[in-house]
Amino acid sequence: MVTEWVAAVIITSALILSVVLSYAGFLQNRRAIQSVEQAAAQVEKSPQKEEKPKEEEKPLEEDPFQNYEQLSDPFLVLVNAQVPLPEDWQVTPRMVDDEQVDLRIYEDLSAMYQEAAKEEVWFWTASGYRSEEDQQIILDRAVEENVQNGMEKEEALKTALRTIAMPGHSEHHTGLAVDLNDVSDDFEETEAYRWLKEHGADFGFVQRYRADKAGITGIDNESWHYRYVGKKHAKEMERLDMCLEEYVLYLKDKGIT
Ligand SMILES: [Zn+2]
Repeated sequence: MVTEWVAAVIITSALILSVVLSYAGFLQNRRAIQSVEQAAAQVEKSPQKEEKPKEEEKPLEEDPFQNYEQLSDPFLVLVNAQVPLPEDWQVTPRMVDDEQVDLRIYEDLSAMYQEAAKEEVWFWTASGYRSEEDQQIILDRAVEENVQNGMEKEEALKTALRTIAMPGHSEHHTGLAVDLNDVSDDFEETEAYRWLKEHGADFGFVQRYRADKAGITGIDNESWHYRYVGKKHAKEMERLDMCLEEYVLYLKDKGIT
């Protein structure tokens, strides 16, 4: 009797235990399925999650040249479509060929021409310092020409501004920039251009507008336009492969003012 009762208890307990175990297994499975579903849902959500902070960051991306503050080194003065010539900028004109340049570049520019001449490479200054009035005249002339070619006034101005800077926004106002020789795209094919690529920085000059930097400078390739930044900066810009816009931001990033 006792053994029968014990057996019955054992069987009943075993049954209860198996029911409990299988229920536990069911629960575990369900949890596993749920977590897989949650993971899947998260994977679906995650691209949105990544996009969100990007949208939030956008307004923080300020245009670095809006209210741009010039560096204290005058040879690094930045003048472009967004950044006007500083109001207190002074030019001390010196004649080179039939053009004027600022006194601060006169010596190195002349030395460069002389050094090149020793190798029978010839440079001449086609355009140097330009006042804002000069620039206005050049712009007006180009607009007028476009109008005569059948453009509406607005389109004529827009077209002209693609190649001619607004008065106050031309680097030629600084007296630190020169257009060389024929001021043509063919300049790139000349010995003079090759010579400049090799030696320009030794005299403090860099090609200001390069084809591969047009997206940053906003100006197409100008193989004839050179800008004086001083020997140290010219070599550093060459080493870093930076245009002036990139270089001034790079220096500011390093804490230089
Ligand atoms: Zn120029």
